[in-house]
Amino acid sequence: MKVFKFGGASVKDADSVRNVANVLNHFPGEEILIVVSAMGKTTNALEKVVQLFFNGKEGALELLQEIKEDHLNIIRELFAADEHRVHNDVEILFSQLDIICQGKPDENFNKAYDQIVSYGELISTKIISSYLNSSGYQNKWLDARRLIRTDQNYRFARVDWNFTERLVKDTILPDNRYVVQGFIGSDDDLNPTTLGREGSDYTASVLGYVLGAEEVVIWKDVPGVLNGDPKVFDGTALLNQISYREAIELAYYGASVIHPKTIQPLQKKNIPLRVKSFVNPDAVGTLIREGSDLDPVLPCFIKKDNQVLITVSTRDLAFIVEEHLSKIYKVFHQYGIRVNLSQNTAVSSSFCINHDPITTPVILDELQKDFDVSYNEDVKLYSVRHYDDEARTRVQRTGKIMLEQISRNTYQVITV
Ligand code: ASP
Ligand code: MG
Repeated sequence: MKVFKFGGASVKDADSVRNVANVLNHFPGEEILIVVSAMGKTTNALEKVVQLFFNGKEGALELLQEIKEDHLNIIRELFAADEHRVHNDVEILFSQLDIICQGKPDENFNKAYDQIVSYGELISTKIISSYLNSSGYQNKWLDARRLIRTDQNYRFARVDWNFTERLVKDTILPDNRYVVQGFIGSDDDLNPTTLGREGSDYTASVLGYVLGAEEVVIWKDVPGVLNGDPKVFDGTALLNQISYREAIELAYYGASVIHPKTIQPLQKKNIPLRVKSFVNPDAVGTLIREGSDLDPVLPCFIKKDNQVLITVSTRDLAFIVEEHLSKIYKVFHQYGIRVNLSQNTAVSSSFCINHDPITTPVILDELQKDFDVSYNEDVKLYSVRHYDDEARTRVQRTGKIMLEQISRNTYQVITV
């Protein structure tokens, strides 16, 4: 069996949904498990609904109505007026959402979030599964809340692998084709959970792993994995092949085509991951598997905007030693902050982190209790894997250099 994942951009409107059918027609007779995200920007819109609902503000139901209209418009374009089944299914899901939003929110924001946001995928898969069936691509709709079992770490739920494996093996049978939601699962009490934003790739990987899939394919609006985001860098080129290890490195530095958690489960079972273009399904795309790091070997550019560079110094000009560092990292750990780059001098230590309007000021306050702290906001972090001189010069020229770091395979520079 193959696992295909279609993200929000690939199902954003009626034409995109038709295109999914077109892509699938390139694989006649193959057993495929299709993992689908919420349509377009639905998840962002549902996040707003949760915020309004949770904070007792007006407008949640109105916003839900807008989201519903958007989906109904797509349904009207895709189906004949007398196709009652899909209308009915989607109406039911939206009325469940209405009922939730007319009640009292769960005290736990993250739990309330999962309860509501998970509907984006339930709705999109109802539409896509029905459309595929009506256009001759027979498939069964599956409920990921009955397949992916997680803990109760709402919004960032962790998969219970053994339980999930049992559920999947009891449900998914050979010689069938299925459509299932990405991003969502449920806890032991069957409360919906989500796996973290952009988590549908991870769902595809989890299902690919437990099924021992032949391959997992992520369908994208780009030709595959390029050596830089074409919206940011000129003259990017397609990477034909990447090793699992290199893919994990690229994701770690912030390459956004690959969700960081996706690779590891596949690597464990040596399942190839392909990133292909849904616009051009015959093109080969990028293959991620065991093998040489990169083919072709090219410098890979990654840019992270909206970074904060924090420099922490001892008040008495004492050397920065392990004791200070562990205090500093404890603060980062406490607020779930990942350090993107760090560097020490004798009496100071610098850290580059993603700016977050809520946590950054809190962290600065915490650090200021024990240290002198200075910081620069809105700096950019460039990372170049497999750099050469030209690649380094290219990113150095993007602004005034605040900090540079170089290792055998990676060059990083912070500019402002
Ligand atoms: N719909 C979810 C999100 O937008 C999951 C995904 O698209 O991967 O984050
Ligand atoms: Mg998405």
